[in-house]
Amino acid sequence: MLERCPVCGGAEATRVSRYNRFILFDRVPDPASAIYNYSLCHACGVVYAERRPAGERYKWLLERFEETLGRTDVGAPRPGKFALSSSSLTDEAREQLRRMVANGVFVSGTRGLARKDYLPSLMNDRLASSMHVEILGSLLPLKAPRVLEIRSRLGSISAMLQRLYGASCAAMTLFENQRFLIEEVYGIPASCPIDFDAFSIPFEGRFDVIISNHMLTHAVRPKEFLATVRERLAPGGHLYLYQEPMEGEFLDRGKSMFNTLNPFHLQTFNQPSAVRALEANGFQVIFCTVRDDLFLAIAQAADMPGDNWKRMSDSQRSRRRSAYRVANDTAILRVPEHLRAPFAKDWDAIVERSLANGVATRSKDGRIKVRKVEEQAT
Ligand SMILES: [Zn+2]
Repeated sequence: MLERCPVCGGAEATRVSRYNRFILFDRVPDPASAIYNYSLCHACGVVYAERRPAGERYKWLLERFEETLGRTDVGAPRPGKFALSSSSLTDEAREQLRRMVANGVFVSGTRGLARKDYLPSLMNDRLASSMHVEILGSLLPLKAPRVLEIRSRLGSISAMLQRLYGASCAAMTLFENQRFLIEEVYGIPASCPIDFDAFSIPFEGRFDVIISNHMLTHAVRPKEFLATVRERLAPGGHLYLYQEPMEGEFLDRGKSMFNTLNPFHLQTFNQPSAVRALEANGFQVIFCTVRDDLFLAIAQAADMPGDNWKRMSDSQRSRRRSAYRVANDTAILRVPEHLRAPFAKDWDAIVERSLANGVATRSKDGRIKVRKVEEQAT
């Protein structure tokens, strides 16, 4: 249990939600694993899990990674997305991957190769990642930079920076098969896994650019994560942060908050809070934007980090508290009937409130239905 905000160290916070996605599961690792007590920090405005797994418990949950994300049962082979599955690699699988990647990243349709003879995910990932290289190349002077990619999927951003800007890169991946492919396909040194609890960088020296994919959301100790990154940036170096989910998904666009906050999502934010999170940790944001409810930013390590960042205003805080209250109510109303026991005590009050403020309606058979966001707006 945290006493202070894990991002800025702020001492005051308001609890905005009790549960993570496990509350929607029929089977969970244990009853405590569903209770995270998400809290809104009054200073930086980040919403963080006040209760979070660390140490051995985090490892225990991580080992059940795909199972706990509701993707598959333990031990069952995962369909598709071969290159990204978390299973470890046998010698046989290594050989098979080697044969496939020998056909290259950009496999022309004219070659008539069968799907089993190459790895389409290599090209797909290159295309899906090109946006980030466009942003980096347009906004930063990239002259043969030294680059570290954290939580790289298949080394695509590094490969593009190498091709276009003569970058020398290193990559950190979650899984052994990703690590293997990045070295095999691009010759880029790669390491795995990534420790979200005691984060460290297993490469020597400093980097001009550190690229971080979906890490701030997951870091067990975000302050320490950002300090480690900052320490390893060359003077004037830049952090590029991307794929950080915003609270707008469930506050403004009608998704269930419980379903969105999976047990590895330990932080969420809006754009100003994400910027404050960086400022509070010695970074100056030089560019940021939100696309598809995902935050991305380029931030420069400040020469003289100070405590002079601007705290969230009282009016912003109260606006977000109200929005979280509604999101919590509607998430509860959407919980399947057989899982509603934890909410029995508050149920009637929630129904009454939600009918009164128009986020829910009562149908003829007496059921409570959360209105779609488009309907609520009218
Ligand atoms: Zn904070």
